[in-house]
Amino acid sequence: MYEIDGPYLFKQGKHAGEYLEEVVFKNPGYIISCNRYRDGRNVNCFQKHLEALLENAPTTTKKCPICGEKSVKYFLFLNHEDVNEKLCCCENPECQNDLKMNHPGDYLLPIKLKSILVGRTKGQINAILRLIKKVTGIKKVNAEDIFSIFIGEPLKKA
Ligand SMILES: [Zn+2]
Repeated sequence: MYEIDGPYLFKQGKHAGEYLEEVVFKNPGYIISCNRYRDGRNVNCFQKHLEALLENAPTTTKKCPICGEKSVKYFLFLNHEDVNEKLCCCENPECQNDLKMNHPGDYLLPIKLKSILVGRTKGQINAILRLIKKVTGIKKVNAEDIFSIFIGEPLKKA
């Protein structure tokens, strides 16, 4: 069984020698094209790692601007094409309703890397990545930091 215990290093292909954790920010289009885990076929080590990276909720450092208590978990996808880093909220349904009420027609997406799958243009995908970097406090794209924020501390072997 494959254990996820650190960043995933590409051994072959276009990004051989690079970490998946960095490539998702540097070449998101490539990562989107690799995504196969959702259809449940060919679930190999790479797809399991990709699933963990895209589906996990990262540790966010920014506080919900509505309640000012919990950390942000959602952002508003404006007109299905844009994001504004200020329009975020926590998982509290009251905060979510408050944010949606002022922006009818727009919808909330989770602050997870899988939300890049919703972007239709490079500009949208990069805007979502910028927001994710901002609310998770990522200043420089670094495999170890991204692994620890999105997947967790490397598992300690007993
Ligand atoms: Zn809140």
